[in-house]
Amino acid sequence: MSECIFCRIVAGELPSHAVYEDDELLVFNDIHPVAPIHWLIIPKAHVESLAHCGPEHEALLGRMLLLGARLAREHGLTDGFRTAIHTGRAGGQVVFHLHVHIVGGNESKTPIG
Ligand code: 5GP
Ligand code: ZN
Repeated sequence: MSECIFCRIVAGELPSHAVYEDDELLVFNDIHPVAPIHWLIIPKAHVESLAHCGPEHEALLGRMLLLGARLAREHGLTDGFRTAIHTGRAGGQVVFHLHVHIVGGNESKTPIG
């Protein structure tokens, strides 16, 4: 069994509220939302952080960002939304499985994560 909580969510070993899923990506609600919409977009395959990505992840990273914009549009975030990627301890990363935060639905800038 993986010790990575996001790998365990992908495997169905931990519950999550999924917003979107395909072969490569999973999007689910953050357990501690800072706004009415607060999603985490993750690759199903374990990648520790943005700093661990190489050229082989170029398409994956593009898909993650474009999916965030598409889902935001589909969920009515027409005035905009925030994206955040925390990288490494000094970057505030707490869960060491690459993820993009998508935050929207209000205008305040509550810190993410
Ligand atoms: P970060 O690593 O980007 O700083 O923060 C990790 C984010 O994952 C936090 O916003 C936290 O609320 C969220 N998180 C941590 N554990 C879980 C979990 O088990 N389920 C869900 N849905 N979100 C989680
Ligand atoms: Zn993982």
